[in-house]
Amino acid sequence: MSEIDLPEDHPRYQSLLTRHRIEEGVEKGITSKQGLIAEGRGEAFDYLLGERTIKSADAAERAAAAQLLLADHPVLSVNGNVAALVAEEMVDLADAVDADIEVNLFNRTPERMEAIAAHFREHGVTEVKGLTADGRIPNLSHERAKVDADGIGAADVVLVPLEDGDRAEALGEMGKTEIVIDLNPLSRSAQVAAIPIVDNIIRAIPNMTAHARELQDEDEARLQEIVDAFDPETALQAAEAAIRDGELA
Ligand code: ATP
Repeated sequence: MSEIDLPEDHPRYQSLLTRHRIEEGVEKGITSKQGLIAEGRGEAFDYLLGERTIKSADAAERAAAAQLLLADHPVLSVNGNVAALVAEEMVDLADAVDADIEVNLFNRTPERMEAIAAHFREHGVTEVKGLTADGRIPNLSHERAKVDADGIGAADVVLVPLEDGDRAEALGEMGKTEIVIDLNPLSRSAQVAAIPIVDNIIRAIPNMTAHARELQDEDEARLQEIVDAFDPETALQAAEAAIRDGELA
C-alpha cells in the first residue's frame, strides 16, 4: 500500500501513516529493525497522550525554537526513524534556525549512514554531517561515541530526537545544551534534557519550525526570556500527569 492509499478519514490515520513510513524506511535500508521496536513504544505513549500536542509540549517546542535561534552552532541529530518519518520537516527546521544536520546512529553501519545521508541529500541538504566521524563523545564505547568534530563535536545546542539514554547523558556531560524529543517522559533521555519535548516527532518538528519563524525577528533578550521561563521538571510532570490521568481521545 502506498501513502496515498491510506484512508484519510480513518480515526487512526496518523498512526497508520507513521507505521507505513517506518516500514518503508526499513525496506529502503534507512531504518533498523530496532527502530521498529522504538516506534511501537512511542505509539503506545502517544495513544495515552491522546495523539495530540499537549500544552506543556507546545511550550517546550517554543522554548526549543528560541534556544536554537540563540545558538552559535546548533546541530540537528537524525537517525533512521527520524529520516523515515520527518526528513522534509527536519530540513525546513534546519533552514529556519540555520542549523546543520548530522546523522548519528545507535546501530552504526556504513550502509545505513550512507542511505540516510543520501535521503537527506535528496531532500536538498548539501552538506550532511556525521560521515567523517573524526570526533568522539567521551565515556561511550567506540561506535556509539562517533561524531563529526565540526558538527555535534563543536555544537553548543543539539536537538537529539529519539536518542538513547546513555548517549543523551554523555552529550549533556560534554556541556551541550540538549533538546530531546521523546514520547516517554520517564525515559532517561527526556530526564537529562535541558528542554524535553514529550510529543510525537511528527507533530513536534513542524510546530518548532512554526515557532522559530514567528520568533525569528525577536531580540536575544526576548529569546532568552522564553528559554528561562521554561522549566524541564514542570514540563515532564505535566506530560506524566496527562498520560496517567488524561482522557483518551
Ligand atoms: P532510554 O534509554 O532513554 O530510557 P530507550 O533506549 O529505552 O530509552 P528506545 O527503545 O531506544 O528507548 O526507544 C526510543 C524512544 O523513542 C522511546 O522512549 C519512544 O517512546 C520514543 N519514540 C518512538 N517513536 C517516537 C516518535 N515518533 N516521536 C517521539 N518519540 C518517539
